[in-house]
Amino acid sequence: MFIKVLDQSTINKIAAGEVVERPASVVKELVENAIDAGANAITVEIKDGGTSFIRVTDNGKGIEKDDIQVAFLRHSTSKIETDKDLFSISTLGFRGEALASIAAISQMELITKTNDSLCGYRYVIEGGIEKKFEEIGVPNGTTFIVKNMFFNTPARKKFLKSETTEAGYIGELIEHLALSRPDIAFTFINSGKTKLHTPMNGTLKDVIYAIYGKEIATNLLNLDYDDGYIKLSGYVAKPIIERGNRKFENYFINKRFISNNTVINAIEDAYEPYLMSHKFPFTCFMIEIANDKIDVNVHPTKMEMRFMENDKVYEAINTAISKALEDRIIPQVSITPTPKKEEPVKNVKPNVPQPFETNRIKDYSYVTTVDELIGSAKAVVKEENIIEYKPEIKEIPEPESVPDNDCFIIDRDYTIIGQVFDTYWMVECENNLFIIDQHAAHEKVLYEQLVNAINKQKCDSQALLPPIVISLSLKEEDCLKNNMSIFNELGFEIEHFGGKEYYVRAVPMQLYGCDAKQLLLEVLDNLISESTTNDIVSRKEKLASMSCKAAIKGNTRISYAEAKELLDKLLKLENPYNCPHGRPVIISMTKYEMDKKFRRIL
Ligand code: ADP
Ligand code: MG
Repeated sequence: MFIKVLDQSTINKIAAGEVVERPASVVKELVENAIDAGANAITVEIKDGGTSFIRVTDNGKGIEKDDIQVAFLRHSTSKIETDKDLFSISTLGFRGEALASIAAISQMELITKTNDSLCGYRYVIEGGIEKKFEEIGVPNGTTFIVKNMFFNTPARKKFLKSETTEAGYIGELIEHLALSRPDIAFTFINSGKTKLHTPMNGTLKDVIYAIYGKEIATNLLNLDYDDGYIKLSGYVAKPIIERGNRKFENYFINKRFISNNTVINAIEDAYEPYLMSHKFPFTCFMIEIANDKIDVNVHPTKMEMRFMENDKVYEAINTAISKALEDRIIPQVSITPTPKKEEPVKNVKPNVPQPFETNRIKDYSYVTTVDELIGSAKAVVKEENIIEYKPEIKEIPEPESVPDNDCFIIDRDYTIIGQVFDTYWMVECENNLFIIDQHAAHEKVLYEQLVNAINKQKCDSQALLPPIVISLSLKEEDCLKNNMSIFNELGFEIEHFGGKEYYVRAVPMQLYGCDAKQLLLEVLDNLISESTTNDIVSRKEKLASMSCKAAIKGNTRISYAEAKELLDKLLKLENPYNCPHGRPVIISMTKYEMDKKFRRIL
């Protein structure tokens, strides 16, 4: 008899509450139990997002007959005895309440056999009430089946999201568990389809390949660091792999997938010189640190932890990643030099050389971000009070004769004066100087064209020859499938190629010429990270806006003729002033304001 009931003081030290929030929490508990039982092959099977059916099978050590009923008691665990053990836990589960909590709200079945036992056992418990306990012939290991979650507490079922979303949470969880244990083969089957299979005794890189596909697996840099205080091992991806959300930043603290701000900051600061703002890297590495250097706080559904010495941890992770990134950067001569930024990029460690601006553009489509430039324009507005955004123009107090401020230019003649900073077009129109952001203008025009085409239900596609192959993660795949009809309506043609690979055969006419692969990945990332509405119209508009935003990246230089065409289109729009993401497209200064500034008029 190895399983004991915890004493009351220990129970009190463990935050009370519900373990079981959603199907993913059940899967987490059951898989962690399987890992703790020494399994090296774990299969998770779900139906209907896990709400109607979850089965977790392992080849671990099994549960002794005498322990079976005890295991389902609250606070029964074989893993710790007193609260002291809480701080030196090496196993994953330790609260001893998972099985009791899951059994209380579902119809649960346990089939298990230990190595030494001649036969196995089947135990059925529904809503916490034992229904069956019988002998059964089964292989070594344990299978848990959880049916109809919340069948006896229907109110809690209402808090669940759609089955696809719940399945997504489970998929993501299993990905993290698989990454944390390359020595265990994980199989995930959703509604009869195998979604993930990782090799047993694989290396971390094999698991990354199985989950994220070839593109990421072939762009990894080794991370290997050990200063005696903290040890890091695993991979960080080259900055060419950039994503629209933080979900690709994987790290495991003493084998656990735990979110920690110090680690996030260290990662993102190291990548800062190489990634545009709002872009996030891919990482997957293990952090090993002595248990007495961390402070673990046990929460009913999650585990929080803090490092005792944040600075040391930050420094180690930041330095190791900076070094890995720095080692691979080979400066290249640029074709289109742009002026170097004067301000050093903040948070860059002194030993990280800044790649030339131009090199970045060539390599990874880095740009001097429009945001920064707009930011400085805003600063000018404040300081000098001379440039005003259009909506504010009308509010300029008027002491004298009234100049022609009612300026807008639709259907009026205008003269393009030229371009500055490879980004802004100066346009003279009657008594106004307009400064137009080329990227925002392009984005705005593309967006309006796409939305227009959707509304008229005639989006033209442009075929890509040859088609492009993209490999998607589980989540991206689901997201694509859920939105496939909208992608099609917009003019994308995407087809399953096999495994995680998809063919992109066509893109919307308006987006032809852009980097279709990057575009799609970015749009999918955005869709995943934003809570998308079910309203089909706003979803379409959102997709259109994301698509064009992704399409116009890069500090492209355009010719006078191209600019003319773009400005003609822009200035015909009903509202040319703001891009679909709310940034200004045009700022203006009137002749009157200029005259005032030069004190020609008082
Ligand atoms: P905890 O994992 O916190 O100890 P649980 O309620 O999850 O508590 O599990 C209770 C006990 O049941 C565990 O301590 C373990 O002894 C046993 N157990 C649960 N799942 C398995 C499994 N898959 N294989 C072997 N033993 C298991
Ligand atoms: Mg457990």
